[in-house]
Amino acid sequence: MDSEISFSIKDDSISEILNRYQNGTTISKNVALDLLESKDILYILKLSACLKTRFKKDVITYSRKIFINITNLCRDICSYCTYRKNPLESSSVMMKPAEVLNLAKIGKKYHCTEALIVAGERPEERYSEAKRWLSQLGYTSLVEYVSDISEKIVKDTGLLPHSNLGNITKEEMKLLKTYNVSLGLMLESSSEKLLEKGMPHEFAPSKNPIKRIEVIKNAGRMKIPLTTGLLIGIGETKEEIINDLFLLKSINNEFENIQEIILQNFQPKRNTTMQGFPSPSNDYFLKIVSIARLIMPDMNIQIPPNLSPRTFSSFIDAGINDWGGISPVTIDHVNPEFLWPKINELKKITESKQQRLRARLPVYPEFIDKHDFISSHLRNYVENFIGLDRLVKEEYLVEFR
Ligand code: SF4
Repeated sequence: MDSEISFSIKDDSISEILNRYQNGTTISKNVALDLLESKDILYILKLSACLKTRFKKDVITYSRKIFINITNLCRDICSYCTYRKNPLESSSVMMKPAEVLNLAKIGKKYHCTEALIVAGERPEERYSEAKRWLSQLGYTSLVEYVSDISEKIVKDTGLLPHSNLGNITKEEMKLLKTYNVSLGLMLESSSEKLLEKGMPHEFAPSKNPIKRIEVIKNAGRMKIPLTTGLLIGIGETKEEIINDLFLLKSINNEFENIQEIILQNFQPKRNTTMQGFPSPSNDYFLKIVSIARLIMPDMNIQIPPNLSPRTFSSFIDAGINDWGGISPVTIDHVNPEFLWPKINELKKITESKQQRLRARLPVYPEFIDKHDFISSHLRNYVENFIGLDRLVKEEYLVEFR
């Protein structure tokens, strides 16, 4: 059971508070909420930056990836999403195995280590075109196809798959785990209000938080390193954000399988129902990131730099320790309006804050040697890329800085 740290911004020095962070301690929900309401952002940033240094040293990681947009057809409709397409749109995608493997080979040429496979939610349940596409390839579900193509990617290129396919069952996780080093599923928000009429998830049954939380817990039961996180600014309250951070912390306390938490700031997209919705202010988002570090001092916390193109360096001050997947080749198909920074630029900016940029695999170092978390089929491929610190060997990347 965690003990709770309470403190007062007015009365307690940073070093006094840091001394109270011992094993398992955390701030309470009330303190977290007070901090989110507080105007003293510098104090909160100082505290979270110190905790980041204590628990994550001076390293900030990223994963060098190729983005495989295997299909952008989706059963659901979220009112902020421009990734989803219907089969009649010219930009709809249903990739054939040869196309996937060609792309993975390009990723290998550019010294990527991650094959990120992204798809909409169970498209075969909504579109006959998706069903036909899969059946022509010999599959009845997208998960079966991704499972097989993951094996081919590994065997043909050595790249390590990380799939993000929405809500999947335990049986499907078992299938994917053989050739995926980790899986991804954003919680986004556990606010049930977002499913109501006129709200962003009204037509997205997979975003029902009860179902999502169960999938996240199932990944824990299956010993799968999981990337999850919150989407900030889609109509949730401050209390709900704090509750969600504590919820993720408690799931991780129970299953110890959450490898990172992404904090993603909502960005309004043209031609969506939410195009007039403001994105969260930089200061507000900074505070949330800082508070996440205060709640989970040893968690890997990521913000996607492309979604804060002018201000992403400020999140180093808030205590992040990861920039997520960055591709030297492909675009961010979910947010094509936002280009990733060049890796060289990211390195310069990271170093300007006295931090070192290191490449990690799509599975974080602390899970690589954890019993049963990595499939035996992947062990050699994983070892191939990494050094003793379990990060990607510098010599693997040296040609493509
Ligand atoms: S956000 Fe995901 S689930 Fe929602 S419409 Fe887009 S692809 Fe589908």
